[in-house]
Amino acid sequence: MKLSKTSIQKLETCHSDLKRLIYAVAKEEKCTVICGFRGRYEQEKAYMQGKSKARFGQSKHNFKPSLAVDVVPLPLDWNDIPAFERLGEKIMKKADELNIKIKWGRDFTNLKDYPHFELAD
Ligand SMILES: [Zn+2]
Repeated sequence: MKLSKTSIQKLETCHSDLKRLIYAVAKEEKCTVICGFRGRYEQEKAYMQGKSKARFGQSKHNFKPSLAVDVVPLPLDWNDIPAFERLGEKIMKKADELNIKIKWGRDFTNLKDYPHFELAD
């Protein structure tokens, strides 16, 4: 499995631990990176569209390098929650193996964010 060019571009805006993790997972799973670093314009747009609860500066995507990454399973079907669960479990397991502490957006209480993985502080 190989990440697409746009996936790599997005992943390259992320913290080295996230890069290490997602490159490792992508060897075994079909997935794509839909978001790495998010600038002011993109963050405010996501907020307005209700895709994010954070204003610019409040999201881990707003750091440089980004402390969060959004990854989705392929083929992408937003209604296929089991596919998101499977990929998420895989990412969490791999993070454990690589000794990287991350939080999964699925476990957020306010807004379940299946594609979202961020470094725990
Ligand atoms: Zn995210």
